[in-house]
Amino acid sequence: MTTSIADAPAVHPGRVLVVDDEADNRDLLRDLLAAHGHQVVEAATGEEALRAAEAGVPDTIILDVVLPDLDGFSVCRRLKENPRTAAVPILLVTALRERKDRLAGMDAGANDFLSKPIDTQDVLLRVRNAVHTRHLYDELAENYARLRQLEMLRGELTQMIVHDLRTPLAALLSGLQTLKAAGPLNPVQQECYEMAASDGAALLGIINDLLDITRMEEGSLPLELQDLSAPDLLEAALRQVAALAQEMHQSIVRQVDPYLPTFAGDEDKLRRTLVNLVGNAIKFTPEGGTITCSIRFDESAMALAFSVRDTGEGIPREAFARIFEKFGQVESRKAGRRGSTGLGLTFCKLAVEAHGGRIWVESELGKGSAFSFTIPIEPAAR
Ligand code: ADP
Repeated sequence: MTTSIADAPAVHPGRVLVVDDEADNRDLLRDLLAAHGHQVVEAATGEEALRAAEAGVPDTIILDVVLPDLDGFSVCRRLKENPRTAAVPILLVTALRERKDRLAGMDAGANDFLSKPIDTQDVLLRVRNAVHTRHLYDELAENYARLRQLEMLRGELTQMIVHDLRTPLAALLSGLQTLKAAGPLNPVQQECYEMAASDGAALLGIINDLLDITRMEEGSLPLELQDLSAPDLLEAALRQVAALAQEMHQSIVRQVDPYLPTFAGDEDKLRRTLVNLVGNAIKFTPEGGTITCSIRFDESAMALAFSVRDTGEGIPREAFARIFEKFGQVESRKAGRRGSTGLGLTFCKLAVEAHGGRIWVESELGKGSAFSFTIPIEPAAR
């Protein structure tokens, strides 16, 4: 005995909306689909179909192109435009070999086609596949929602852990200070103290960066604006990294335009941005190199343009976008680089963008890199 595919029970019985103005056609499809386990809802006009689909989203829609009010193509288009029904597979019923109708149907977003006169096997197989696709989509959407929920939970947990690390670490660092003050320390103790204090400060820096980045991403770290002088800001940043540059025998050159306008900015965030950029320039430039810091006024953009240029190892083009992402680093340098977290440039990007500015990098391998950012001088322009 041979069994036809159409005789087999539906793999996934589904809720099918049949849209046709001819009662005979609807009856035929209803009986056929119901006999294979599907639940059938009927509509005789385009408007009726839209209402029925909105009232109870079906798993599949069989839609005739010829309807008394709206044509099947515009019904199809409207169903695909509605986020509630956009993912429901639509089988458009067209006259056999009507190429023009099929192209128009595809343009309207139809997922598959049925030809008139109706072939029962064809209908059952296409409906079965459409319902199956719909169920897969639902499963995917459910998994995605669950994943997003887990991701949020993970983010909240990380944030909580990072936050809770700060208090004991601050107590540890203050204990170290007390120990030093109670001195004198012998040379071994002094060495241990310096190591612990410097690594502790680095750890506190990472924790603070992580917390600030998350708060900036969430928009819950507001800018504290004040009237700022760009050259003063640069000098404050350079004071923080001067010792590091000296250690590396690097020279820091300033190219600052005279008569720069003052601007409204967050001193702490912009100074930290410059410290990060100059700190990186020092870190990634060999001994004896030159770091050039420039500030000019871009009149057409009404913005201050800052730039930090180095004569270091450079950055490959394919890493330009990645290095601004959280934990993003140049792949080949990841291993063994002490004190590198890939958080500095993420902080810079968020801080600059919160000011309505833009940050970017230009670089040539082996020659050096230039990090530039703009800050509009008027908060209103942000
Ligand atoms: P970190 O320096 O802590 O790794 P950043 O976000 O500041 O984090 O920088 C990300 C990566 O971008 C660095 O690890 C480095 O690979 C690259 N990078 C940043 N600045 C420079 C620079 N001036 N020259 C070469 N590479 C750089």
